[in-house]
Amino acid sequence: LRIRHLTKHFPVGTLFSRKSVHALEDVSFDIGKGKVVALVGESGSGKSTTARLIARLIPATSGEIVFKGRNVLKEEPRKASLEYRSQVQMVFQDPFGSLNPVHTIRHHLERPLLIHKKVRGKEELRDRVHELLASVGLNPPEDFASKYPHQLSGGQRQRVAFARALAVDPELMLADEPISMLDVSIRIGILNLMERLKEERGISYLYITHDIASARYIGDEVNVMYAGRMVEGGDSEAVITRPAHPYTRLLLSAVPDPHAGLRKRGVEARGEVPSLIDPPPGCPFAPRCPHVMDICRKVMPGVEVVEPNHWVRCHLYGPGRDVEVDSSRAVS
Ligand code: SF4
Ligand code: MG
Repeated sequence: LRIRHLTKHFPVGTLFSRKSVHALEDVSFDIGKGKVVALVGESGSGKSTTARLIARLIPATSGEIVFKGRNVLKEEPRKASLEYRSQVQMVFQDPFGSLNPVHTIRHHLERPLLIHKKVRGKEELRDRVHELLASVGLNPPEDFASKYPHQLSGGQRQRVAFARALAVDPELMLADEPISMLDVSIRIGILNLMERLKEERGISYLYITHDIASARYIGDEVNVMYAGRMVEGGDSEAVITRPAHPYTRLLLSAVPDPHAGLRKRGVEARGEVPSLIDPPPGCPFAPRCPHVMDICRKVMPGVEVVEPNHWVRCHLYGPGRDVEVDSSRAVS
């Protein structure tokens, strides 16, 4: 998947004062086959908008979404869309809201198999349902197939959501905060399931999270978003062990110390996220940045490569500005 300059503006305001919410601005990244690319950021940073645009749930304002060499935004909606939708599946945050309480798990899994004509005959349908349940670790599958959503735990329901997405043999999964509503104790099991499906089926993921620790755990690459823009990205070890952008450093400073329990220090409390309605020029992080300079409020920083497979958008790294950023100051 190749995303280029993807932009989404929502119109707001009245006839006499038209404004627009810049939900996503000039976002570009790639997801290679069998890779996990994480998008990390606070709520409202544009992560879910990115996933919804890729899933074609909402139209883009501009930019390109190229999947296997085809610009999907330019294609005839109908025919191309059914094929694209089976290749690109979305898994949502809420395992409680995504399943219909009046239907059994079997019904939830049969539907996509029938709609996308993945099976012939009743026997094959039953076998496929059981195989899907087993592949997400719901054993014995016969028992789980006959249950209703309320009879399952949150983690089990999220496994059903993955099984349903798998039913149509996707190549790419868009997982939007798939573990954030689950108990801490079962989150790792879902991440391990994603990893196993990647290995067994070559599935690629866009993994969306506000939790940079889980992005490091599962992501081959990590992209950090702030106020609708990508501010830093690259190889996940590089971004997380050598964060360049002051915002990434702030996010990492809020990662809980494993020895101090899973209590989070508040990132959100440190200054205001800027309004996305007709935002001012310059760097969106300027109001919160401990390193802010005059230029930051006037000029949007361009992309600077800090090392192979690691880039940042920040004036601290512009040409001739090879300053060593004091990271203790950045996170204080
Ligand atoms: Fe801070 Fe300026 Fe870099 Fe923005 S461009 S993160 S305000 S130093
Ligand atoms: Mg979201």
